[in-house]
Amino acid sequence: MGNKKIVLDNVRIFSSEKMSLIENGRILVEGGKISEVGTRGSVDVPSDALSLDGMGRVALPGLIDAHLHVTGMRTGDNVKEPLLTPMGVFFARGVKDLESLVMAGFTTIVDAGGIVSLHLRDAVNEGTIVGPRVFAAGFSLSPTFGHGDVHYMPIEYVDARTSKFMKPLKGLICDGEAECRKAARYSLREGADFIKVMATGGVLSQRDRPDYRQFTLEELKAIVDEARAAKRFVHAHAQGKEGIVNALNAGVKVIAHAIYMDEEAAELAKEKDAVVVPTLSIVHKILEVGPKAGIPEWGLKKSEEVYKDHVENARKAKRLGVKLATGTDFLGGFFPHGENALELKLFVEKLGMSPAEAIKSATETAAEVAGMKGSIGRLERGMLADIILVKENPLLNIDSLLNVKNVELVMKGGEIVKNNLSQ
Ligand SMILES: [Zn+2]
Repeated sequence: MGNKKIVLDNVRIFSSEKMSLIENGRILVEGGKISEVGTRGSVDVPSDALSLDGMGRVALPGLIDAHLHVTGMRTGDNVKEPLLTPMGVFFARGVKDLESLVMAGFTTIVDAGGIVSLHLRDAVNEGTIVGPRVFAAGFSLSPTFGHGDVHYMPIEYVDARTSKFMKPLKGLICDGEAECRKAARYSLREGADFIKVMATGGVLSQRDRPDYRQFTLEELKAIVDEARAAKRFVHAHAQGKEGIVNALNAGVKVIAHAIYMDEEAAELAKEKDAVVVPTLSIVHKILEVGPKAGIPEWGLKKSEEVYKDHVENARKAKRLGVKLATGTDFLGGFFPHGENALELKLFVEKLGMSPAEAIKSATETAAEVAGMKGSIGRLERGMLADIILVKENPLLNIDSLLNVKNVELVMKGGEIVKNNLSQ
């Protein structure tokens, strides 16, 4: 795979170093990696290479969604849909969602909990189905009464240990250091690329609130220790300040949502070199389609309550220089995979980023969340050849990335997954 030489010729290359385009550019791909990149005059075309005319399109590193869930869910109703839908249907829909993601230019995704893409990851890697590179948590860890516990269901319907009722989103319930270590090991045993934990309450969990602290500092430390022992890291759902600070002090690398991350917590995130994934898209979308999507009344109410603070705090984090990566928290269905570039648009509109900064957040910074810093996220020699060609210049109009038709070519690890250049 990927042994051929391919030249993407006559392209405008996004440089995250210069934060601008290299005009009249050429990229040489060899063995699945970028071997040369620069102006046409500076890169020779080997005689045995397949040359593609990029027709002046803009070349970007493949986009990365640093926090989503491929669940196969089609509504936001976490009670009715799992109850009435066989697991096979969720997997079949997950296959389609992965295809939509890669066709929209997302060559890597971070699945922050759920078993659908954990298993589909292997089917993508063996070439059976088409999809992005998947970096998956699989079973997420939550304390009893935590964000991952289905505490709005009577206990007799919910397995106290695996919250199995959630089906595609099922996780592990653990309390105390010993159980947390065991759950982390179980999750690794089941193929987790990283460990996902619930450090605080959330929006779509009925009986807790975003600012509730959930796992204790000691529990988080135990989980981080298990992840480190297996050369992995921890990605935390953390919305309230206490949980964010605990997670950072425990050594958690990725902070998702960060709704109430104030200046002090933002400074700590910087000090710890953590990456924050605000996931503005999910709340934005809940407010747009929530009632239609079957989001319960209490979920809508909480979404309305948090959105303003969420945006303000993410804006502050941007100003303070916290590393921000794009993640949608989309689940599928009303929160559709394929429209994940919404987060780039919101970074520009709500956080005051330039389009180039938003693209960097969705590529170079998001690569860290996918555990692939230095391998993907930049168009440079030695990087894996994850490259997309887009028709309209996103530096002038970031919204253009939301139009899937604009994404004319998608290359993942040197393999061409989509090519509509000549149409
Ligand atoms: Zn999530």
